[in-house]
Amino acid sequence: MASPKSTEISTPLLRRLHRIHQQRADLESQARRGPLQLKAVQASIDVATQAVDAEIAVLKKARMVSDEKHLQLQTREAHVSQLQRRLNEAATNKEFALLKEQIAADEQANSVQNDEIFEILERIDTLEAQLARTKEKLAEVEADAAKRRAEIEDRQKRVAIDLDRVEVQLEEAETLIPAAVKADYKRLLEARGEEALAPIENESCGGCYQTLTTQVANQVMLSQLTYCPNCNAMLYLPEDRSV
Ligand SMILES: [Zn+2]
Repeated sequence: MASPKSTEISTPLLRRLHRIHQQRADLESQARRGPLQLKAVQASIDVATQAVDAEIAVLKKARMVSDEKHLQLQTREAHVSQLQRRLNEAATNKEFALLKEQIAADEQANSVQNDEIFEILERIDTLEAQLARTKEKLAEVEADAAKRRAEIEDRQKRVAIDLDRVEVQLEEAETLIPAAVKADYKRLLEARGEEALAPIENESCGGCYQTLTTQVANQVMLSQLTYCPNCNAMLYLPEDRSV
């Protein structure tokens, strides 16, 4: 049945190679995710920090406005005192009346100003309370980030150790590949990575899902090196199928 050119290859070896390649691909993908996860953690801190900074800026502005209004009030109060001194020295009724009018106008303006200052002080109280909450939130985010960072770094260390272990396993397994097959294996691996090998699943190639002919399936069952006619993967029988 087998053609004279057929090459024998051990099914357990193909299974093992594929399992190792899948593990390696998975670990490499986890290793790539690490820096992205760390970036996301930093981004959460940045967002919380920006919220605090924005609120500090608003509060600072409100305090400036409050200071300006206080200063205006004091200036106008000093002016009123000055007018009142002049009132005592007024030479004519007309001057007296005019000064009285000016004092009344200033006092009215000060009354409005006092209301405004009261409002802005209330607003500053609200902003301060809000800022305290936002700072608490930042502290929570930072604590959480420190925990997440430690977890990610810990996982990355384990991934690196596992990757080293898998590389050693792969090297060992590859020494068992028949010499005649090695070049093809290397070429396929470079082109397709972990998909260089595929199990037969439901009479189909587990890599590309192409339905396989009985002849192809039989070759695989006889441990003959067989490539998927569609995706060219090295086919093998999975463990739940007898050889
Ligand atoms: Zn295929």
